[in-house]
Amino acid sequence: MKPMPLVAGNWKMNGLRASQAELDALNAVLTAKGAPCEVLICPPFTLVAAFAAATGDKVAIGAQDCHAKQSGAHTGDISAEMLKDAGAGYVIVGHSERRADHGESSEAVRAKAEAVLAEGLKPIVCIGETESERDAGKTLDVVLGQLAGSVPTGSTAANTVIAYEPVWAIGTGRTPTVAEVAEVHTAIRSALVARFGADGTGFRILYGGSVKPDNANELMAADNVDGALVGGASLKASDFTGIIDAYRS
Ligand code: PEP
Repeated sequence: MKPMPLVAGNWKMNGLRASQAELDALNAVLTAKGAPCEVLICPPFTLVAAFAAATGDKVAIGAQDCHAKQSGAHTGDISAEMLKDAGAGYVIVGHSERRADHGESSEAVRAKAEAVLAEGLKPIVCIGETESERDAGKTLDVVLGQLAGSVPTGSTAANTVIAYEPVWAIGTGRTPTVAEVAEVHTAIRSALVARFGADGTGFRILYGGSVKPDNANELMAADNVDGALVGGASLKASDFTGIIDAYRS
């Protein structure tokens, strides 16, 4: 059975308290029209608690990162336990901007994902190749290596989401072709089945990288694509609902 798709918004370092108007607008549209898939917004840490308190039953709230430890002397960091306390249901880990800006290895990402699972929250584990890796024909090697290194042993289809995000497609307006997306997602699916058995068929594998209302239909229809991780186009409810509409038949 195909898993319930997930369309997740990653607000990155964007959003002030007034931005709750966009969450309110999203909730209003989905309450009026119904939600055809699971919908998630991951605002910056400063807004997680307020958004979790304000959201309705159609939009879940998540976070964009966490520390691997539960508490302690880690100035400026946030733990999965804190995010759970704030009302988060999901935590993005291993986003390419964190792998690049903060030198996060797959081992570090796996430790974060384990911390998320330990709190009963769901990690969204991000993987993806750079443009030079793609040009060198290394896409599958890189992506499957990150998958093996970043996904915890305790992951299941029910508790973990994978997001394939080619680094060169993030925020650039460029996307792989539908065939290229399908090739990578199908390889990820095969690797999940090889590692987790039949449960591997149920993991949601999101595509991320310049998803917009006008390309969502074709990208979401690609083989083994079970939703989207959306950056820029998740900031405005009008754009984000246009992407969610890809799941209305
Ligand atoms: C992202 O950062 O996860 C992302 C997919 O960004 P964008 O949609 O803006 O390319």
